[in-house]
Amino acid sequence: MDPLFKTIIEPFRVKSVEQIKFTTREHREEVLRQAGYNLFLIAAEDVLIDLLTDSGTGAMSAKQWGAMMVGDESYAGSRSFFRLEAVVRKITGFKHVIPTHQGRAAERILFSTAVKAGDVVPNNTHFDTTRANIEYAGAEARDLVIPEGRQPGVIHPFKGNMDVEALRQTIAEVGREHIPMVMLTLTNNSGGGQPVSMANIRAVSEIAHAHGIPLIIDACRFAENSWFIKQREEGYADKTPLEIARETFSYADGCTMSAKKDGLANIGGFLALNDDALAAQCRNLLILTEGFPTYGGLAGYDMEAIAQGLEEVLEEDYLRYRIRVTAYLAEALLKVGVPIVQPPGGHAVYIDARAMLPHIPPCQYPAQALAVELYREGGVRSVEIGSLMFGKPQPDGTEKPAMLELVRLTIPRRVYTQSHIDYVIEVISRVNARKDSIRGFRIVEQAPFLRHFSARLAPVETD
Ligand SMILES: *Cc1c(COP(=O)(O)O)cnc(C)c1O
Repeated sequence: MDPLFKTIIEPFRVKSVEQIKFTTREHREEVLRQAGYNLFLIAAEDVLIDLLTDSGTGAMSAKQWGAMMVGDESYAGSRSFFRLEAVVRKITGFKHVIPTHQGRAAERILFSTAVKAGDVVPNNTHFDTTRANIEYAGAEARDLVIPEGRQPGVIHPFKGNMDVEALRQTIAEVGREHIPMVMLTLTNNSGGGQPVSMANIRAVSEIAHAHGIPLIIDACRFAENSWFIKQREEGYADKTPLEIARETFSYADGCTMSAKKDGLANIGGFLALNDDALAAQCRNLLILTEGFPTYGGLAGYDMEAIAQGLEEVLEEDYLRYRIRVTAYLAEALLKVGVPIVQPPGGHAVYIDARAMLPHIPPCQYPAQALAVELYREGGVRSVEIGSLMFGKPQPDGTEKPAMLELVRLTIPRRVYTQSHIDYVIEVISRVNARKDSIRGFRIVEQAPFLRHFSARLAPVETD
């Protein structure tokens, strides 16, 4: 795009449309009651603007749909697998490419193979499925993000960076033999979609490798992270997103990937590794639960969509527009005094519910209360990333609250236009104007793992 233009437009035109449904406030009240105030339990039909997740919710391009028509559905040796393998190798340089149905399947296969009970896996911040899969293997998922990454109001260009001193201390304390891998999540989803700098990736890689520990990248938003490096880190302005991505992966030994994010696909993922023996073990497990190694639980056409998506996601016009959307939303919210994680991340804007609703204690889930209110007000679905998702029930019946109480407004890729975003801004502004009257919630029903997906809640009674 010509840099002299101020307006950054959607770098596409619409070829096919999908209607969205308007609902009344009374209807939304009833929907909330029936769903136990859990937005995961409401029907998508009853949502006007769905900012629950950017996972698998993107719009595919005409080229992706076209590629799907020529997908090769052969059980073994599919041409579509070889296309995917070639694209992943071009971007990451990793030797072994193992397709999976989602990112979490890549995680489960990797951790079942390489992580044992009593181990510790350091990460900047573990995503919820990553944490759950590590804990399911009996190991500890330890978050070592820099202190700035824990303070929502503090501006730092790379708030997703790992605290390298804390990593050194963890290795000294736990012992190299109990750390099967070090991970870095790009961008740092659970910490606000914040990027990690190339300098930090390099430093973490050096420390891990000095102890013979492999570095595995959670690559879900590697393209968005590459764009932030290009914009914010000295020496990268003239590099292409592909060059930056290649350098990023060159410091690591493998990655887990959800193609539902920067794969620009609706389903899929992969595990990529350099280690021959580890890859062979992972493939054995893959065959047991996912499928033969040249499809891993995906259709041939899915692998085509992912391969094409991985090419498109690194285009500069796309990334410039993508990152501008979150910045636009963030600027508008700041203007009306809504506290957000600063600076905004790549795929989402995170409202700091602890700062916005100080009258609701963490044990009454302030971020969930706010998410419910946005739906009630205007049919906007967001997601809580706070104590409902990460709170830890203690033996005495109390709960250890999460580090942050955030409401994530996640922007699906290439789906909504600027007027949709303007409407969301209006809904949030209206809720903000009556924030003091918002009440907290209590859990009525919950599951032992990933409880936020299925828990039922009830409003806390007022006295
Ligand atoms: C989405 C995501 C995952 C898991 O991927 P799925 O495809 O949803 O299983 C892992 N890590 C991060 C950072 C993610 O955003």
